[in-house]
Amino acid sequence: MSKKFLENTKVFIEQATALLDYRPDIVKQLETPHREVRVELNIRMDDGSIGTFIGFRVQHDDARGPFKGGLRYHHHVDSEEVTALASLMTWKTAVAGVPFGGAKGGIQVDASTLSDAEKQRLTRKFIDGIHDVIGAKSDIPAPDVNTDGQTMAWIFDQFAKYHGYEPGVVTGKPVALGGSEGRTQATGRGCVYATEEILAHEGEELEGKTVVIQGFGNVGTWAAHDYVAKGAKVIGISDISGGYVREEGIDVADAIAYAKENRGLEGWEGAEKIDGAKILTMECDILVPAALGGVLTKENAGDVKARYIVEGANGPTDPEAQDIFDEKGIHVVPDIYANCGGVTVSYFEWSQNMQHFYWDEERVNQELRKVMKKAFADLMAIRRKHECNLRTAAFVLGVSRVKEALDLRGL
Ligand code: GLU
Repeated sequence: MSKKFLENTKVFIEQATALLDYRPDIVKQLETPHREVRVELNIRMDDGSIGTFIGFRVQHDDARGPFKGGLRYHHHVDSEEVTALASLMTWKTAVAGVPFGGAKGGIQVDASTLSDAEKQRLTRKFIDGIHDVIGAKSDIPAPDVNTDGQTMAWIFDQFAKYHGYEPGVVTGKPVALGGSEGRTQATGRGCVYATEEILAHEGEELEGKTVVIQGFGNVGTWAAHDYVAKGAKVIGISDISGGYVREEGIDVADAIAYAKENRGLEGWEGAEKIDGAKILTMECDILVPAALGGVLTKENAGDVKARYIVEGANGPTDPEAQDIFDEKGIHVVPDIYANCGGVTVSYFEWSQNMQHFYWDEERVNQELRKVMKKAFADLMAIRRKHECNLRTAAFVLGVSRVKEALDLRGL
């Protein structure tokens, strides 16, 4: 699965480099990650036993700025998955136009089995293993699947034990530790901005549109919140416990409060429960895959009825599924643009840390809106020039910006 994810990422890169007429040696240079760190993590479990886990940090490219990318705790995590995700970060930061490269990290662990104390020990052990390759000017982690502000706070603290106070070493921190207003909301909020951009381009508006969201973690919940705030109707949500549908519109605030209290939607009675996989093929205007990669494949793509797909997750669509969506005329707003709101506000956080001067949420949102608008216009110009789909346009934009930086820096 992870091998396929890495292959898929290369397919998307190579569709772009073919349009750009890049030589094979250049494609190889662009695809090859800079460094992979793999660390064994032994911690004391609450029951007294020793827990042994493997952690990874893959630094893909830093031609445009320090390596940047999240840290996920999941049993799927392996070298290939983290490498694919690190590569996506390189193109994402370039598409957004923020001065970072790309990286990703992860620990192979079923996060739902860890107590908070175990999670803290594991996080600190991981930083013991990688502290010498991260830093505010070298590689800056952030939240991803099953990590959050608290996890970033432990990273900040553990890193300080080796290197002293350096808040810019990690983003997505709680505001009390130098985090940015609006960072928690940023990825989901950015997905909604991306949706507004594509709709406006097609002469439509968000008001009254039906939305289905797969995944109810940080990205899914904040996207749902903002879609509703802007007059759209969320008619389906899902998490690991299954799908929840309500034609008249889901009470998103109630679902969020329930999921927070109960660590998920299991047992929530606010909507009709359906099989989780069915959520992806529901009748709706906008489908937002906001969980894990590889969920839209040639097996189910033909059944997708949404008119727009906005990729809150990284790598949710296989190349074969993308072809099917192109044939069906479904607009796919690709991950490296759709979910770039998170890393964009990470950039704002990092730059606020550098200046020790903090912005209010209104300013953060305004600046994020500007970045998303500019990136969308850049994508559209490329799409017109190359007559390609939005994903290829995004990869063309990302890859060419990285290549320009690489060329200027030289070998
Ligand atoms: N994990 C997020 C992503 O996939 C955010 C990365 C960051 O802020 O560095 O884009």
